[in-house]
Amino acid sequence: MAADLVNRLIREPSGTPTAAVLADILAIDPPSVAKLDVDDAPGFVALAHRLDTVFDSLRRGDLDAAATELNALLASHSAHPHLAKENGEWRMHHHPADAAVLPMWTSICSENLARLIGAGESARIGTCAGSGCERVFLDESKNASRRFCSTTCNNRARSAAYRRRHTRR
Ligand SMILES: [Zn+2]
Repeated sequence: MAADLVNRLIREPSGTPTAAVLADILAIDPPSVAKLDVDDAPGFVALAHRLDTVFDSLRRGDLDAAATELNALLASHSAHPHLAKENGEWRMHHHPADAAVLPMWTSICSENLARLIGAGESARIGTCAGSGCERVFLDESKNASRRFCSTTCNNRARSAAYRRRHTRR
């Protein structure tokens, strides 16, 4: 979600209206889409900019700046752990079902990035190594070895390296 916001609202905007892009990103959580208001769009763009600085700090190796920015986001958007009964079972949620969508996602995105940093896993918060590509990603691979945003960028880099090897002869 954090990477999606940064990629689709800032690093690679498609020209599609922000509200439509947001509805598409939030589709992973249908209740959020239902609660999304057109007035939320500027707030999500602002959030995307702040998350963008976190990814950018980490790309530059400035862990302190990333942590400071995340702390500021966390301080202004606290979590509201909440038990909700579903099909007779109490389940833990990050927020109550009626929580406003922007503060809730600000809190979730910041907390998840902060948890990675706190676990010494900041290398998993990545920027694509593809030439000309600025897209960001969260590396969920087993050995944290991901370097590209997509297989497209990976393949492009691989064939460029192949061409370099073969033109050098
Ligand atoms: Zn890429």
